[in-house]
Amino acid sequence: MYKGIAASRGIGIGSVCVIAEHDLTYEKKKIEDTAAEKERFNAAVEKFKADTMAQASDIRKRIGPKEAEILEGHLVMISDPSMSGEMSKMIDAGQCAESAVEAVCDMFIGMFSQMDDDMMRQRASDISDVKTSLLKLLLGIEEVDIGKVAPGTIIVARDLTPSMTSQINKENVVGIITEVGGKTSHSAILARALEIPAVLSVPDITKIAKDKDSAVVDGTEGTVYLNPEGDVLSSYVIKREDFIRKQAELKGFLGKPTVTADGESRELFCNIGTPKDAKKAVECDGEGIGLFRSEFLFMDNNHLPTEDEQFNAYKEAAQTLAGKPVIIRTLDIGGDKDIPYLNMKKEENPFLGYRAVRYCLGNEETYKLQLRAIVRASAFGKIKIMVPLVTCVEEIRKVKELVSGIKKEFDANGTPYDKDIEVGCMIETPSASLIADFLAKEADFFSIGTNDLTQYTMSVDRGNADVAYLYSTFQPSVLRSIKHIIECGRNAGIPVGMCGEAAADPLMIPLLISFGLTEFSVNPVLVLTARCIISKWSKKEADALAEKVMSLPTEGEIVKALKEAVKE
Ligand code: PEP
Ligand code: MG
Repeated sequence: MYKGIAASRGIGIGSVCVIAEHDLTYEKKKIEDTAAEKERFNAAVEKFKADTMAQASDIRKRIGPKEAEILEGHLVMISDPSMSGEMSKMIDAGQCAESAVEAVCDMFIGMFSQMDDDMMRQRASDISDVKTSLLKLLLGIEEVDIGKVAPGTIIVARDLTPSMTSQINKENVVGIITEVGGKTSHSAILARALEIPAVLSVPDITKIAKDKDSAVVDGTEGTVYLNPEGDVLSSYVIKREDFIRKQAELKGFLGKPTVTADGESRELFCNIGTPKDAKKAVECDGEGIGLFRSEFLFMDNNHLPTEDEQFNAYKEAAQTLAGKPVIIRTLDIGGDKDIPYLNMKKEENPFLGYRAVRYCLGNEETYKLQLRAIVRASAFGKIKIMVPLVTCVEEIRKVKELVSGIKKEFDANGTPYDKDIEVGCMIETPSASLIADFLAKEADFFSIGTNDLTQYTMSVDRGNADVAYLYSTFQPSVLRSIKHIIECGRNAGIPVGMCGEAAADPLMIPLLISFGLTEFSVNPVLVLTARCIISKWSKKEADALAEKVMSLPTEGEIVKALKEAVKE
């Protein structure tokens, strides 16, 4: 049995497919038969073109035209005589195909990465992709196409990038195991959105597991079994059926209001990353969007999305929600979210660095573009603006000032927008928590980001497996912080929501009911689970449990007390 981080609930039983990281080193040799070498090179280029064309048309059908255009751009590049022509010339001069590919690509990568224009710099990373693909073909390295693995596959990889995860066909992949990543890494969030059981941060699993090994992934407990014995396997077949049955029971909560056992209403919203996810939120019966992670729009593009592109995305989400609230978090980049074309500096401590609202206020033109797009979209639904990583009052004041400026401009030129558009504050840093009373006077609403609040309160990197044992929202310090933030919001009469992953935790929900949280924002697939759990707790019972728990000094004791009381 191997232990890892339980990242996406459910039981997966299937056959392993290891996604290996390839060694692209080769021997540089002088070529005598240059004609044969050119033939080998041309064959690789033709295969590259055919593969890329097929992938682009598949992506166009499954995901969309914009995503397909990135691959089509690779075809244009390799067909350019200054690229393949130069490579051919080098082979004529006696270089091997691998070294010709590497030299020409590196020359262009160096050139493009020096340029000031974002679009041009993005070319550098596209050429790097082309180089890797050509080298793999020349070295005879077989690529596993994640989108085409057989039904019943368990993917084992060192890491899954969000773009790899988005290629996964959920009909075929029944489990995910990785060597890195934590509960709130973006691949974990995507795995949950796809409802695929996932266990992350299992040490050395890519070396231990072999293709075609049978495996069990318990994404609820964070355990993995390779080639399990008969009795382990049969107990997991039962557990899997049990899980599926419970999921079916939850369907009874579809279309029902979200109320506690004693009839108090709560709002139950969803976290989304793209306007397409907004449909999923509605299908899953979410009552609004509590967190639209707008940075995905920026990450999924090879250029800074224009004001109109952003406006269309926000408008689409607002229209999909048909008047229900859509809280758009402004650009939250940096930390573990890089956007290559923005060419952000590499930092020693990215989580403590130039990220989120800090980057936005330092790049006002980029930020204003986004705020204008959001304010324009507010004419099409109930949009709210939310500011991430606030640490001081000046930040929220500055954002409100920018929004006021945009409103004045729109008033002057007759652009329609919602005059009552709210500006709220994410509370996800210890500083914001400690000054929550001041911030509550400035913000129209709060949303607690427990993913970061836990990281910063406990001083643990949220993706580092070695310190994951400290990364818990049930640490007394984190619980005190959450309670305090909610109290400050209530005293000031503003609503307080939670959009961190803890909002859907069955152990956390009774505490949040007791503290007085007004809005829970969860992954769309967890809406019914959260509604079911909320319905089981009365305020009185939740208060009794909270009183006991808040008097306990250790995370271990707190979790034990909550597990004893949990109603699932
Ligand atoms: C959080 O920090 O809790 C949060 C919701 O934001 P993200 O996970 O995107 O940092
Ligand atoms: Mg955060």
